[in-house]
Amino acid sequence: MNMEEITPEFIRRLKAEQMDQLSAYRQDLYKKPELRQLFFELTMRCNLECFHCGSSCSSRLDDGLPLQKYKEILDEVKENFDISKLLLCITGGEPLLRPDFFEIMEYAHSLGYRWGMTSNGTLITPEVARRLREAGMRTISISIDGLEKTHDAQRKRPGSWKAAMRGIQNLIDEGGFHAIQVTTVMNHQSMDELDDLYELFCEMDIDSWRVIGLEPIGRALEAPELMLTRKDQRRLFTFIKEKREEEMPVTYGCSHFLGVDFEREVRQWYFLCNAGLYVASIMANGDVGACLDIERSKKTVQGNIYENSFTEIWQKRFADFRRPLSLRNEECRNCEYEKWCAGGSRHSWDYENEKQRICMKGTLF
Ligand code: SF4
Ligand code: SF4
Repeated sequence: MNMEEITPEFIRRLKAEQMDQLSAYRQDLYKKPELRQLFFELTMRCNLECFHCGSSCSSRLDDGLPLQKYKEILDEVKENFDISKLLLCITGGEPLLRPDFFEIMEYAHSLGYRWGMTSNGTLITPEVARRLREAGMRTISISIDGLEKTHDAQRKRPGSWKAAMRGIQNLIDEGGFHAIQVTTVMNHQSMDELDDLYELFCEMDIDSWRVIGLEPIGRALEAPELMLTRKDQRRLFTFIKEKREEEMPVTYGCSHFLGVDFEREVRQWYFLCNAGLYVASIMANGDVGACLDIERSKKTVQGNIYENSFTEIWQKRFADFRRPLSLRNEECRNCEYEKWCAGGSRHSWDYENEKQRICMKGTLF
């Protein structure tokens, strides 16, 4: 094929074909899910109090399951799943606050698990960075949500930006990790800082910068004025798309169907909400769910580790996650994009009113 034939129309057609294939694949996954990411919410404690925290964590809350329970779960999962295809994703709260953090992770490493972590970065001294490498950590994502003043104000902790940036530098200096990522949650007010943040992260030796919008979950539900407007959304996705065309390692997360012009442009893959298909999580209280960003309720929690084994819950429950969300809402059911979107992301679904809180139709397509 010569270059003149690669027109925008040709690319749109190609994407449509590929999204059709993905949609057929999703039907197969509903019948035969494959566990690829297992989240452990090691603690609900955090040394910061981000207003947008999806888990509403704070210093007053508790650690997750006891060490022995995590060891039992790790043994059981290794016995029943192919852990060479699995990534253990460690999160919290701030996981490094757990006194037995390294015991858990060293045990996982000794069993052959690949693991990564989400952290606020403030506790990563050179010594901690060395121990993380020795315990086999492959990937880490650190949150930086704006320039110094904005980031600190969101956490109600002066000095937290500097501490997180030091933590990132300590990881870079240590080396030997598969990927060091910075994640930034943009809100309506911080959108003005997008270009300055880009300049800042371009100067750092990180592997990728993941930029996402504030989502209506957890404490953020109380701050509707900070949600991105339609104009902000368009600007954000256009920004990521342009930077990626320049081959900069800027990326977006797994959320939301973005329409033909933005799908496969702001991330490496097409939209597929993996919750309950590839992704499961064990929460700090032993509840088992699909994805930790999803609101926790009787409708979404699938069982508890103290009542049934993880394997049993994964294999016998999750029925609701293995059919399209769009079945629950007339507008989604009848939508012309339903076959590609399937009702959108599960974390932004309003389970009380059975409707999607974030739909990009009318904004991006
Ligand atoms: S619920 Fe949201 S964060 Fe979780 S897999 Fe689906 S799109 Fe991604
Ligand atoms: S209406 Fe529903 S199915 Fe259609 S694009 Fe929006 S979220 Fe997706």
